[in-house]
Amino acid sequence: MEIWHPFTQHGLEEPIIEIETSDREFLITPEGGKIIDGISSWWVNTIGHRRPEIAEAIQKEAQKLHQIIFAGFTHKPALNVAEKLSKFLPENYTRIFFSDSGSTSVEVALKMAVGYHFNKGKTGRSKVVAMEHSYHGDTFGGMSSGARSVFNEPYVKMLFEVERIPCPIEGREEEVINIYKNLLQKEGDKIGAIILEPLVLGSGGMFFYKPFVIEELYKLSKEYGVIFCLDEVMTGFGRTGTMFAFNQTNIIPDIICLSKGLTGGSIPLAATVCTEEIYNAFLSKDKAKMFFHSSSYTANPVACAAACANLEIWEKTDVLADVKKINNFYQGQIERIKKLGGKNVRALGDIFAFEVQAEGNDYVSNIGVKFYEYFRKNDVLLRPLGNTVYIMPPYCITEESLAKIFDVIEGAMKEYL
Ligand SMILES: *Cc1c(COP(=O)(O)O)cnc(C)c1O
Repeated sequence: MEIWHPFTQHGLEEPIIEIETSDREFLITPEGGKIIDGISSWWVNTIGHRRPEIAEAIQKEAQKLHQIIFAGFTHKPALNVAEKLSKFLPENYTRIFFSDSGSTSVEVALKMAVGYHFNKGKTGRSKVVAMEHSYHGDTFGGMSSGARSVFNEPYVKMLFEVERIPCPIEGREEEVINIYKNLLQKEGDKIGAIILEPLVLGSGGMFFYKPFVIEELYKLSKEYGVIFCLDEVMTGFGRTGTMFAFNQTNIIPDIICLSKGLTGGSIPLAATVCTEEIYNAFLSKDKAKMFFHSSSYTANPVACAAACANLEIWEKTDVLADVKKINNFYQGQIERIKKLGGKNVRALGDIFAFEVQAEGNDYVSNIGVKFYEYFRKNDVLLRPLGNTVYIMPPYCITEESLAKIFDVIEGAMKEYL
């Protein structure tokens, strides 16, 4: 049997690279080749690969407790995650629900939001609002909320319909706020939830937008009783320069989804965090009102121990200072990339992105493939999204590695543009 890899067209015979170990920002091959992980292994890694503190916590817990049923049972690692995460979140968040991936954390959020209305007798409020170009995972709820594209074309008829608002990129903010307002005026009583990627639309093309838009959309949502969910799966744990993207706003969402950085990028775990108001809608003597959701590996103790070790690193060290350093480095590269022909060159927190001119704008556009190969041959892992080139490294990356990434990008731009 051979392995069928994700997001891989095996027909193109794309090489599959074996990695034996990893260290800080490096992926290391069995031959000792060192590849700079410029995208944090698809955004999961935050504080560097194979952090000893996390490895140790995993080892310790693995000797003590593996998976146990989480309905009617609990354990210290899960209780510790709840306690430690609380310290980084506003007091309004009183409940944490565990699952195991970003996608499932989104499913849980949507089910919480719609179930909230249902339990309050509003059975017609099951519509969801999401942004164009958004990405919320590859399960059906995630795909439904996410943009329709080549990613999900065969399944379009199976997806539930979602109301769309455009992405409020610079210059379109007022327009988008008004579109949402009109939507609510027209059918606010049918809308149960809005789900957004805060500040950055990741997979959709690294589109940035301003915090005040989130505040305005939140205000409108409150006016119409719409549950406000932020999908912080990518933005959480420092990516945008604050621990969570919503920290750059003055609002507290009803529900947030966390996953990628929760264990520092070590093992899978996800959390959907909500306010007491959401939780209370399910609290009853009536069993039919409970939250009907579980995954077999809910709150895996080893994963929870890894999350605790990660949160301890956040407690003890100034992780955001590393993000700031990276951003400062980016500021010095913006002009350089512009001169080389980069369009829309932008940086936020740990993320640097720009577009290159190419025929067609879609994910399968050739230029991204050529760039990817060029980067790979130069021992840098970057995976352009169509013609959007972006960098999102682990925060411990050295200036030397950052400089190498930009040199390699320059090389690719000179070769192909
Ligand atoms: C990656 C991602 C997801 C899906 O997370 P998985 O762990 O891959 O299921 C959902 N939402 C956002 C914003 C993401 O970036």
